[in-house]
Amino acid sequence: MADLTVRRDERLRRPAGIRSIWLGDTKVSYVPDGDVRLRPLELLQDTTDEVWAAHPEYLDSTGHLVGSVGGLLVEHGGRALLIDAGFGPQALDMSAGPLGAIHGGALPRSLAALGRNPEDVEAVAFTHLHSDHLGWACHPAPGTDGLLFAHAEHLISETEWERRDLLEDQGMGEQVATLAPRVRTVSDGQEVFPGVRVRISPGHTVGHAEYVITGGGRRLIAFGDAVHSPIQIDHPEWSSAFDHDPARTAAHRRRLVAELAEPGTIGFGVHFADVVFGHVRRDGAGPAWRPLDV
Ligand SMILES: [Zn+2]
Repeated sequence: MADLTVRRDERLRRPAGIRSIWLGDTKVSYVPDGDVRLRPLELLQDTTDEVWAAHPEYLDSTGHLVGSVGGLLVEHGGRALLIDAGFGPQALDMSAGPLGAIHGGALPRSLAALGRNPEDVEAVAFTHLHSDHLGWACHPAPGTDGLLFAHAEHLISETEWERRDLLEDQGMGEQVATLAPRVRTVSDGQEVFPGVRVRISPGHTVGHAEYVITGGGRRLIAFGDAVHSPIQIDHPEWSSAFDHDPARTAAHRRRLVAELAEPGTIGFGVHFADVVFGHVRRDGAGPAWRPLDV
């Protein structure tokens, strides 16, 4: 048990590598692009120094929360869908605020390691329109001047796309213009790929989308940025500084955590350090987020 705890704690402090699970005959893989370091007190503003002193397992040696940055590849019957596109080939260091540093760039290599070319991806489905999810949709393929996913449809929730003016206001007009020719809007409950349905869950952004993937009698909920860190599974009331509507995300997180505790249900948290796939177990024996051993 002690060894298991040590191993879990190590995984909380490093970004994830490629990890795959099977839901029946659907293969679902985390596709790493990079990592993010977040300032815990500024990200989760309801927390205190005491909280983090009691949970050093979540922090790296510089006191930052560690997050993964990447996408989720869904493969079924020779077809491939990518959910979110990482941060892209860039890096950002911030001297203040919740975001410490973020870098991306590995996604094309990660796809290749999974045996896939970008051209195999028939569509890129987005959870929301933030830079750490749009990355490679707005950047050329390495060594070329053509977009990496130029051939793929870009699936975005209709509410999120309707309010793209919010992004233009934040200086992301260029990204919006790059996406526009490929965008197909999707609505709540729509099946966008065999066994993959959109679920609109506003809060983190106005039209934030989750994707529910079913197969083999199980379901996986890719919940995007409804939850940033596994510590929020134990404290769904803690919203993040990046949440557009903190009260709405908190209410949604409570429902989501209850859902993730149901039998046959797996969660995927794209920013969840090296514990991106997991279950929720509320048996009183330690943290509720139990990473899958994959
Ligand atoms: Zn994000």
